[in-house]
Amino acid sequence: NPALTQFGDRMSHLTGVRAIMKDIKETLQAGAGQEFINLSPGNPVILPEVEQLWRDCTKELLDSSEYGKVVCRYGDSQGYEPLIEAIATDFNRRYGLNLTNRNILITPGSQSLYFYAANAFGGYTTTGELKQIVLPLSPDYTGYGGVTLVPQALLAYKPTLDIDAAAHRFKYRPDFSQLEVNESTGCVLFSRPCNPTGNVLTDEEVRKIADLAANYDVPVLIDSAYGPPFPALNFTEMTPIFGDNIIHCMSLSKAGLPGERIGIAIGSESAIQVVESFQTNMCIHSSRYGQAIATRAIASGMLANISETVIRPYYQKKFDVVENTLEQAMPKDLPWFLHRGEGAIFAWLWLENLPMTDWELYQQLKKVGVIVVPGSSFFPGLREDWQHKNECIRISLTATDEDIEVGMQRLAKVVQEVYSVV
Ligand code: PLP
Repeated sequence: NPALTQFGDRMSHLTGVRAIMKDIKETLQAGAGQEFINLSPGNPVILPEVEQLWRDCTKELLDSSEYGKVVCRYGDSQGYEPLIEAIATDFNRRYGLNLTNRNILITPGSQSLYFYAANAFGGYTTTGELKQIVLPLSPDYTGYGGVTLVPQALLAYKPTLDIDAAAHRFKYRPDFSQLEVNESTGCVLFSRPCNPTGNVLTDEEVRKIADLAANYDVPVLIDSAYGPPFPALNFTEMTPIFGDNIIHCMSLSKAGLPGERIGIAIGSESAIQVVESFQTNMCIHSSRYGQAIATRAIASGMLANISETVIRPYYQKKFDVVENTLEQAMPKDLPWFLHRGEGAIFAWLWLENLPMTDWELYQQLKKVGVIVVPGSSFFPGLREDWQHKNECIRISLTATDEDIEVGMQRLAKVVQEVYSVV
């Protein structure tokens, strides 16, 4: 095997949930014959209305004279011009902005956008200073653990917990007494709504973070992979927040197009130029077929419409099933806390003082045919020891109502047994 560089070594390992997905895949394969209730996927459900929209847009593209220009030619690194135009028009109208096409960049999925930004703004500067990639609230998206070539640049902060003990609910909040954004910060990054917790930072919390960062000209990347206007997977009111130092990041993956890899960045001209050059060097540009069909779905308003009328209610109802089943099945006297379901496609359960680790609980659940994701993989960049990291699990909302119900009932039973052993 050839010797690897630091970067080579770093990038040849899987981080966080990608590593666990391997175990899950093997479990599912080895257990052929055994019926598993799989509550682990982050892959969105194929909803018929959404699939139809993409079919219709594809047909329109195939029938148009544009087809050859889309697939038979290279394009601009910045993205397919009509798509950029459609996004600028839609956002200017919807949010009263003054975006020009120079404020927008299309990337092959939003994960690549975080990779560009994390390494353009975080890591070692030309003068050898280490610039941090700050995650203001941990837990957050596991994929952030793999985006930097300089792992010591990633720095996450422990949150405060708003606990409603009687209701068995809780919510994470940024801990502004601890959070530091200063001259050694390269960029700030968080998801809103959040994968894995379903948390939505309030408008006020977002503005406060953005203001802290603005003092040092630090870009703030707001990962809106689940945000409005598409896929609109927010179950609570939220306003997308824009600003000079904010890079608003979107993805069409949860709007039914994960395979086409489309990410969208909206930000200042100077920030967009930096990430655009990074992209040109890395892969020239995103695939144009996906961009062309997205243009039609966005310009017609259909994507925003389907997001609100089909995608959002579908997952919101699944969260209700999780909530109602846990309510009925979980013992009232145990310290279980479900995170407020404010968005995304997951539920997040915290079991305080769990007598085993989240990984061990995951193994126990496998024995009763239920697969969840152990929560400890969702704390990238958090350096402190914190027992809470081993007390949570992520439950996907992509299963059927019945599977969620049975899964939650089995979970409740296992949890009861686990606590009663001590
Ligand atoms: N950000 C969050 C919060 C996610 O949950 C995901 C995918 O699950 C991504 C980013 C990456 O999505 P993509 O690269 O498909 O746009």
